[in-house]
Amino acid sequence: MYKPASGKAEEFICHQEILDTLAYADENRANRPLINGILRKAARCKGLDHREASVLLACADPEVWGQIYALARRIKETLYGNRIVLFAPLYLSNYCVNSCTYCPYHAQNKGIPRRKLTQEEIRREVAALQDMGHKRLAIEAGEDPKNNPLGYILESIRTIYSVRHRNGAIRRVNVNIAATTVDSYRQLKEAGIGTYILFQETYHRENYLRLHPRGPKGDYAWHTEAMDRAMQGGIDDVGLGVLFGLSSCRYDLAGLLLHAEHLEAAFGVGPHTISVPRICPADDIDPALFPHAVPDELFCRIVALLRVAVPYTGMIVSTREGEATRRRAIELGVSQISGGSRTTVGGYAQGGGEGSAQFDISDRRTLDEVAAWLLGLGCIPSFCTACYREGRTGDRFMALAKTGKIAACCTPNALLTLMEYAMDYASPATREKALQAINRELEGLPSAAVREAARRRLDAIAAGARDFRF
Ligand code: SF4
Ligand code: SF4
Repeated sequence: MYKPASGKAEEFICHQEILDTLAYADENRANRPLINGILRKAARCKGLDHREASVLLACADPEVWGQIYALARRIKETLYGNRIVLFAPLYLSNYCVNSCTYCPYHAQNKGIPRRKLTQEEIRREVAALQDMGHKRLAIEAGEDPKNNPLGYILESIRTIYSVRHRNGAIRRVNVNIAATTVDSYRQLKEAGIGTYILFQETYHRENYLRLHPRGPKGDYAWHTEAMDRAMQGGIDDVGLGVLFGLSSCRYDLAGLLLHAEHLEAAFGVGPHTISVPRICPADDIDPALFPHAVPDELFCRIVALLRVAVPYTGMIVSTREGEATRRRAIELGVSQISGGSRTTVGGYAQGGGEGSAQFDISDRRTLDEVAAWLLGLGCIPSFCTACYREGRTGDRFMALAKTGKIAACCTPNALLTLMEYAMDYASPATREKALQAINRELEGLPSAAVREAARRRLDAIAAGARDFRF
């Protein structure tokens, strides 16, 4: 039975509720009065529930889609402004005991070299990331209690935060590791992590079991209930994600929204971020095995729908997507992207090794090229990490995000961190563009007091000071 606040996976991600939702969506796919009502609700930035979003996804009317895209752009602009937060993944280890059939790190793949970074190698990776200009990382590691125990992850987080290379510093470490216990989540919280990220991959239980035939990740309930345990362990910023293409995207979109509704119902805090990866080529993975692969237009529809359904949640797209798709995704709602990424273990300091990447990178541009590209699109590349460091997490963050007040912090913080980037890392051409954008955006800040404070801090950064925040 469907129970949104239940702690049991089968009750908050209720298969029958999803089937009923999809049937309801099919019945109403051309019901214009209902669709118009859903669009009016979305226009108030109050979000949509899984049934409402599913009706829109089922609708084939191009005029309705024109309205949804326009709405997604407007919500994005109102709540997030034009800043795009940049981050990089850092792969610590590709040892893994699981058997995910879509990932080349699965335990049965003997064709890739297995590697785990030492603390000294992590220092070198972090220095290389700092030299690019990154301030925010997402660490990634396969599940392997022998090679990658929690102690290794905690030690690695301490190492990452300790590295100070020239003016560099990693100010926020998000963590993407396997589902674990409440006590382990508590230790991660104490280590000062930002968001705990765990992709569900697919909410469709039967497909999930087929795609994860061996290893602890094959326990659907343990995996699906992980965010509840993370919350119980004190981590109040959690990041959801589906690997679109593993099951029908209609099923997984409904599942993803049920999960967000569950976190709201059970903990009063929705997901901090939602990631939208798609199945894509990688070593030992045949995309032909995945008949639900999501074409570009459908992918853009999903991004736009998520923007209107959960307006308060940051949305992330990785370098799996190429430039053209990333551009559309940014327009339609994505607020955070990776840049200059390497998906190999040791890929930043040593380069190469692409044959052992977790997935193929479509966007191969450097961080400087990505920053210049964003500036050319009229966006502000942001290296901001302010909220978590100011204690704006969980319900405190959500209260600001839901009312749109967070933009008053995001824009000036984007300008301050872009100034740091311009001073320390940008190429001359990117620096020039960045300085022009900073001057333009500074004048547009609505509050005179914030504008003055930002101007003083920008001057201080130009004179050599670092790490200011609103
Ligand atoms: Fe291991 Fe994660 Fe790859 Fe699955 S997706 S095989 S858990 S690294
Ligand atoms: Fe993100 Fe907060 Fe910075 Fe805005 S102010 S970009 S929400 S960390």
